[in-house]
Amino acid sequence: MKPVRVRFAPSPTGFFHIGSARTALFNWLYARHTGGTFVLRIEDTDRERNTPEALEGLLRSMRWLGLDWDEGPGAGGEFGPYFQSERGDIYQSYLEQLQKAGRTYEKEGAIYFKLEGERYTEYDDYLQTEVEKVRAEPVLIRDLIRGDVSRAENRDFVIYRANGDPTFHFVNVVDDIAMGITHVIRGEDHLSNTSKHIELFQAFGAPVPEYAHLPLILKDPSIGKGKMSKRDRGALIDEYQERHFLPAAVRNYVALLGWSPKDDREVLDVGEIIEKFELSDIQKSPARFDEKKMAYINFEYLKALPVETYAWFARPVLTAAGLMAEEGSESYLQRVLALCQEKITSLEELPKFCAYFFTDQFERDSAAYEKLNKKGDFQVRLSEARTALAAIAADEWNTANLESCFAALAEQHSLKQHAWWPVVRYAVSGVTSGPDFLPMLEVIGRDVVIARLSV
Ligand code: GLU
Repeated sequence: MKPVRVRFAPSPTGFFHIGSARTALFNWLYARHTGGTFVLRIEDTDRERNTPEALEGLLRSMRWLGLDWDEGPGAGGEFGPYFQSERGDIYQSYLEQLQKAGRTYEKEGAIYFKLEGERYTEYDDYLQTEVEKVRAEPVLIRDLIRGDVSRAENRDFVIYRANGDPTFHFVNVVDDIAMGITHVIRGEDHLSNTSKHIELFQAFGAPVPEYAHLPLILKDPSIGKGKMSKRDRGALIDEYQERHFLPAAVRNYVALLGWSPKDDREVLDVGEIIEKFELSDIQKSPARFDEKKMAYINFEYLKALPVETYAWFARPVLTAAGLMAEEGSESYLQRVLALCQEKITSLEELPKFCAYFFTDQFERDSAAYEKLNKKGDFQVRLSEARTALAAIAADEWNTANLESCFAALAEQHSLKQHAWWPVVRYAVSGVTSGPDFLPMLEVIGRDVVIARLSV
């Protein structure tokens, strides 16, 4: 078999959304699975709608997701240029081939591709006029996901506009030929273009690539029905980056939009996805976007990180929130995170959850205070705890000694240790829940704890 060459061919006209990410990812996975080549080709012929910002965003999101391309912008390759806007001469020479073969004609300034078949005219209700149609042989699309689809084109179509620009159908096919693409993996919305494309491949005498049209992605049911749109919550890849999702988790989730390892597992290492990924295992029924599943997979990834790696992701989140200086202590950070990592489901929650480890200016939960204060002994317990804890020397400030300190206090007053814990926790952290209590006191440190109990 010929070595696999696949391409992701985005038009940089807007934000990079989850549907594009899925197409890019599936091409990448297939290239990596087969040891083939992943080409990134920028379909930027629509000069009015393409923007440099959209291109930047696209490249940034692809890099963030770890979808490295073997050929394309910045990577080079022998089939370049990889921007369609720079391939005008190539298109011109392919046009000449069709012209020489008598497969084109001009009408009102535009150049049409001429289908083969018997011609006849028919009244078109929509255009309200007679139109010329062609009885062409139906084209068989052998789709690796959808099976065989047969479809006949019955009208010649434009390949060069009157303004001299080649059309999408033309450049898309010419580039797939010129770049030696063996498999076209793209969204199902393109299935309706494929018969035109196959007609073009055949007119050029070029081999038709294998096709794999990926199923639609439907909205999360909590958002509504129908096809997911770029405007739906959760659609933009940038947003996951901004919300500090782990790129590997997003990539894992996106892989499940139409593909699965067949054994119900959802959290899979990328190496395993690459190993198992077959185009024939992709489902044809629509995939459904599931915000909760994305969050769950992200949490599973976060939980599994060694604390050093977790800290690597957490540090910029905390510095951006103004809680930590860029050069703030790594060992302190890791001690804090060791307590928090399993208690929160996303890095987005981290600054709020652990602010009090880094600043005295943390929020206080007034409802929690009301509740504690109702018992009427808040100040008494606080001052008892302060006195007892202040008796622990700085170098003896650890969980074991904190435990015995509260045990002694409990015994002395014939109460449970719980009489002091929520009060102390509230004074130190502003809330009545959080990481394990005694280790939390240990990490915050003696002086800070005593100072906070003194207010
Ligand atoms: N530029 C087209 C798109 O973004 C590419 C279609 C294809 O993959 O063939 O939809």
